[in-house]
Amino acid sequence: MEKPFCPKCDGEIVIKSGVVGGRQRFKCKKCLYYFTVNKHGKEIDKYYVVKALQLYIEGISYREIERILGVSHVSVMNWVKKYKIKAPENYDYRPTYKILNHQELTLYLANRENLTQAGMLITELGDKYMIIKWERFKNQ
Ligand SMILES: [Zn+2]
Repeated sequence: MEKPFCPKCDGEIVIKSGVVGGRQRFKCKKCLYYFTVNKHGKEIDKYYVVKALQLYIEGISYREIERILGVSHVSVMNWVKKYKIKAPENYDYRPTYKILNHQELTLYLANRENLTQAGMLITELGDKYMIIKWERFKNQ
């Protein structure tokens, strides 16, 4: 039987820790969470896994991702490892991001200046929207 990932932090170092109610219990070595295989606990929505990895590739730090998405930076580090994600190094520029509600987003896009010489990615984030913006031709 393959060892499961921790449902709380997605850590992969888990040890067997007794049997409860006929089911194997495991303990996560990273966050010390106990879980049985059938019980999933607070499983993190895969949507946030994808968002976190997107932000990571964009060059946003673990701590910033934690702040934006509300998932622990330890989880993000584990996902990066688990999915073997490698972000390109040596950015000449850093992307900027904004979290806007629908009305703010509409106003933002209505302003042509915000779109001039810049590309952006808009994704839904809970009840708001996140813009990751690249100002491609900006000299720094
Ligand atoms: Zn854990």
